Amino acid sequence: MNGLAGKTLDIHVHLFGAGDAGSGCRLSKATSGGQSFKHLAEQLRLRERAKSIDQAYLLALVEQVEESTLDKAVVLAQDAVYDDRGKPDWEKTHFYVPNDYLLEVAARHPARMIPCVSINPQRADAIDELDRCAAKGARLLKIHPPTQGVDLSDRKRAAFFRRCAELRVIVMVHTGHEHTAPVLDIGLADPRKLELALDSGCTIVACHCATGWQTDSPDMLPGFLAMVRKYGNLWGDTAVLGSAGRTGDFQRLLADEEAGARLLHGSDFPFPAFPLAFESLLGAANASRLQAIENSMDQDLALKEALGIGLASAERAYRLVCGEAAR
Ligand SMILES: [Zn+2]
Repeated sequence: MNGLAGKTLDIHVHLFGAGDAGSGCRLSKATSGGQSFKHLAEQLRLRERAKSIDQAYLLALVEQVEESTLDKAVVLAQDAVYDDRGKPDWEKTHFYVPNDYLLEVAARHPARMIPCVSINPQRADAIDELDRCAAKGARLLKIHPPTQGVDLSDRKRAAFFRRCAELRVIVMVHTGHEHTAPVLDIGLADPRKLELALDSGCTIVACHCATGWQTDSPDMLPGFLAMVRKYGNLWGDTAVLGSAGRTGDFQRLLADEEAGARLLHGSDFPFPAFPLAFESLLGAANASRLQAIENSMDQDLALKEALGIGLASAERAYRLVCGEAAR
């Protein structure tokens, strides 16, 4: 384990673009015209940075990752929605970040960025794309079932997951509620849908640990807690858990010792943490100090450290992704 001690990783950082400067990314009008995108654009000062969203977002991302105190960040692509014949359905795809663009960006920042490609297993060429990306060095891939409309419990996906296991590609899967992109079917975000992939021998990271807002239904967190007990190859990331809406579920998660040992640090940059929402737990002075931290990734890690899981989960994430034992 030489060289791994004390190293930290943020396993959940997003690459975005609008395709207005050759990135190949897509952003639907519903997304780019929405309130949450306008907020993000302001917070990241996209207009000031460059003329195109592609370039401005990339500059903001690189600045975050380079200036953060974390050693490395896993940066995510986002695949499209596919129809029954395995062809892209661009009408239903609200944001798209191609694997080649991600691989190119990560290759320009090899010391700090690790690419996580995105492959919707429903695409006709899913296994070919997996082989192609793995040959280019990808060690992780992401699937977002509720927005990509794919059911991971479908037996038709078994060959794809067997290939992921053979290649030792870590599979990140969105679980739980989703509030930033239009959802096709929230039932697809149920962590119990991961059994087929887990039984195939894949290392799975349940993004967000199947959490949601207090007002969300159904409650999917108990499903994640049960699955952690059943599967040693299941992990959960803490992405977006520092935000205001998830304080309740975050505390329920932290109260579970077995799940705590599987948590991997993730920020969900560019979606910011909100330390002031944790004032009752941390005290007003502490919450204000955390709120003032400028680098979003550092702020998210510091908040989670104050809540008792930050550094340990960031070191665990580094070991899982970069450690020889994981290969
Ligand atoms: Zn995310």
